[in-house]
Amino acid sequence: MNPSGIVSEYFNKEYVKESHSTRLLTLLMNYWATEKDYEIKSQLLKKLIFKYAEAERKLAEANQMKNKLIGLVAHDLRSPLASIRGLSEILIDGGVGSFTGEQRDFLSTIYSASNTMLTLVNDILDVSTIESGKLELHIKKESLKRLIKERVNIIKVLSDQKGIAIRSRLADIPDVPFDRNRIAQVIDNLLGNAIKFSPHGKSVYIALSRNGSVATVKIRDEGVGISKEDMPRLFKEFQTLGVEPTGGEKCTGLGLAIAKKIIDEHRGAIEIKSSPGKGATFIVTLPLEDSHGV
Ligand code: ADP
Repeated sequence: MNPSGIVSEYFNKEYVKESHSTRLLTLLMNYWATEKDYEIKSQLLKKLIFKYAEAERKLAEANQMKNKLIGLVAHDLRSPLASIRGLSEILIDGGVGSFTGEQRDFLSTIYSASNTMLTLVNDILDVSTIESGKLELHIKKESLKRLIKERVNIIKVLSDQKGIAIRSRLADIPDVPFDRNRIAQVIDNLLGNAIKFSPHGKSVYIALSRNGSVATVKIRDEGVGISKEDMPRLFKEFQTLGVEPTGGEKCTGLGLAIAKKIIDEHRGAIEIKSSPGKGATFIVTLPLEDSHGV
């Protein structure tokens, strides 16, 4: 194979592991090694390979340090933020006496700002946990239908505020192996986004079905939709598009990145179907048979 063949093989196969970059260089070295100046060229390339591998190792180390630092900071911010949020809630609820209208407004601002910060900190903590490979799944076989019903009931508080109806069509399917808290987080994110990006008065649809060896959850909205080019971007961290939430909600661009990682860890899949102006459908599939040994 000539150098351009070797390079295009490298990119077509989308090698992701660090060692594959070294493999590319080795392949190129072998090609050139058949040419003249064998000794000099192979010496040079060996040095290059060594430097490259060293740089990759340093980069991986720096990335690990970054995750560790972010994890530590986020972790330490969580408790004080939860206290501020909890205490402001007690004050708003009149737990220690009454307040004037203006005082209550200030307290509401403290509550909602600390709530937003806590959500962000929790998301950042999740990203760093997942990236450093420390996400532990507690997989149990149970009813996905029951979990969906529970999450829909909880999120109804938000959808009711926007006059959005959540319409469920949930088939009876066999129990599915999954981590309850993590899959709840995925459903909350997808339902939350569907509500967040839907105009007042529209509907959000959630369906559960079985398709051969997988359970399929579809969440569809009648909002602004997503263009084809934007779809792959959405599963990367901190990606938000130009679309504005319809009720002044906050965006961090982390929810879908986390959802994708959780679903990947379950060896499932998540995909989007949408065209601008026609709403969006998020489709999650989870294997019915467990490969985690449950
Ligand atoms: P967040 O909602 O906090 O920004 P996400 O990662 O959940 O974080 O979503 C990233 C972006 O994807 C959103 O900011 C929005 O631009 C787009 N998006 C997600 N869900 C939808 C949806 N149902 N309809 C339109 N756009 C969406």
